[in-house]
Amino acid sequence: MPGNGHGYAGQILPTETVEQLRRLLGNEAVLCEGAAFAEFRDPFEGPDAQDHVPGVVVQPASVEEVQAVVRLAGEQGFHLWTSSMGRNYGYGGSAPVVSGAVVLNFRRMNRILEIDARQGHVQIEPGVSFRQLYDTLRAQDVPLMMSVPDLGWGSIIGNALDHGYGYGVMGDHAGALCGLEVVLAVGSHAGPGGFGPSLDELFKQSNLGIVTKAGLWMMPRPEVFAIGTIQCMKEADIIPLIDMLRSLLQEGVLQGIPMIVGTPQEDEAADPGQGAFTLAKLKTVLRPGRWNVRLGLYGPAEMVAARRAILARALSAIPGAELELRTYPGTAGPEEVEPRDYISAGIPNQVLLDRLKGVFGQSFGHMDFSPVLPCSGEAALRLDRAVRAVAERHGLIGPVGMLVNQRSMVAACMLMFDAADPARVAAARTAMQALYEQARGWGCAPYRAHVALADQALGAFSFNNHALGRTYGRLKQAFDPAGILSPGNHGIWPEGARG
Ligand SMILES: Cc1cc2nc3c(=O)[nH]c(=O)nc-3n(C[C@H](O)[C@H](O)[C@H](O)COP(=O)(O)OP(=O)(O)OC[C@H]3O[C@@H](n4cnc5c(N)ncnc54)[C@H](O)[C@@H]3O)c2cc1C
Repeated sequence: MPGNGHGYAGQILPTETVEQLRRLLGNEAVLCEGAAFAEFRDPFEGPDAQDHVPGVVVQPASVEEVQAVVRLAGEQGFHLWTSSMGRNYGYGGSAPVVSGAVVLNFRRMNRILEIDARQGHVQIEPGVSFRQLYDTLRAQDVPLMMSVPDLGWGSIIGNALDHGYGYGVMGDHAGALCGLEVVLAVGSHAGPGGFGPSLDELFKQSNLGIVTKAGLWMMPRPEVFAIGTIQCMKEADIIPLIDMLRSLLQEGVLQGIPMIVGTPQEDEAADPGQGAFTLAKLKTVLRPGRWNVRLGLYGPAEMVAARRAILARALSAIPGAELELRTYPGTAGPEEVEPRDYISAGIPNQVLLDRLKGVFGQSFGHMDFSPVLPCSGEAALRLDRAVRAVAERHGLIGPVGMLVNQRSMVAACMLMFDAADPARVAAARTAMQALYEQARGWGCAPYRAHVALADQALGAFSFNNHALGRTYGRLKQAFDPAGILSPGNHGIWPEGARG
């Protein structure tokens, strides 16, 4: 089994250890084979993949069971890999950095522990999905509104810990976490801070602990919301478009996280795609404008009307730009809201994945390139050109997206390929490495990375001889010197591990 450059060889778990895990958690909570187990491999790598392959999957049902597994791992020196729902698709799913790691998955710890509508707060376990919380809030008619990512089947906590984004007012999911309960490598666990420095950030995008509960801030259900798009037809429109979005976000006129997606305008003769993965097919999924913004406005009817009027006035400075918004009552659910508006309406769904599979087939696969960029049209054009040039060189296709924050943008670019063809999977990974290098040249780095590229992503933070990575290593050494918890996640290894 392959190892890696840090001296962490892939592990093979002794049969006796698997038996001990069964005795601790019950037979049904230990998966070693079959379809249920296969779900925890990288969904876009073939069954013959040798790297980043889980050894066993365990699914504890309580914090005490998590602690017992961590203690056993400490005693016997085997590695764990934490996964909440394990649907971090595009970044490896539940695939561990070190092959053979025991995936500690939280799908059975899925209790909603508290809903406080007055304070706008819920407390949940890591197995709670966006869909589950939404269904519960609706069933109980709780006047809170969710922010959801483009797919609703993931874990709220898993997504937030990986700095995931939704698009509503609380779209910065990591920022919406409030208080974590964490199991440390020694098997003890701590509650949220409150006096002294906050430690919560140490457990986001890290491998210093296992989050077993979290508080989450939510927004009150608004009186109305207006959802829709801005469409700009010309390449150069991106410059004033981003200037306008940034200003209106900073002024508080726009809310949430508007998303821009570019639709390439080349004719089909220039199509770089291969097999079913062609630009022509991709365009059937994308909107027609050169630049398309998805956005939502939320609040009392008068405020939404005022926000809309200010947006329309600002947009009139871009000739030909079109604004289309549909207004719904705050109580509107999936029956009233058009499916294309579900995401900004906070309704978890699978529409995007279903469409992509419908167009490209069941073996649709993707790797995601998501550097943090300056919030400017120039940066958007540079990104768009780089992604398209690299994709073309490798016979790949992919949309170029950008999540617009007040002072930065997060790119959301999928390189799409046929996951059933190992050569195309390899091409995507090579293309992604080239894109990381390109971003490094801009002084930018990905904010999330596929497990196979985590070291490369952290390597981009090279200031002062990689002081950031070395500091993470010192923290890892202090929290988990034996590297039991998710070694290599986000490029973090104990200080002594070879780099
Ligand atoms: C078509 C498509 C669209 C997508 N759109 C979006 C989008 O709009 N926004 C977005 O953010 N993502 C998006 N994604 C990426 C991804 O699918 C989601 O972010 C998904 O929610 C992540 O999976 P998960 O919630 O099951 O997290 P997991 O896979 O469980 O975990 C994610 C990461 O957090 C760590 N982790 C998980 N649980 C814990 C824990 N309890 N303690 C410590 N560490 C933990 C894991 O080790 C892993 O590194 C999209 C993917 C696809 C395929």
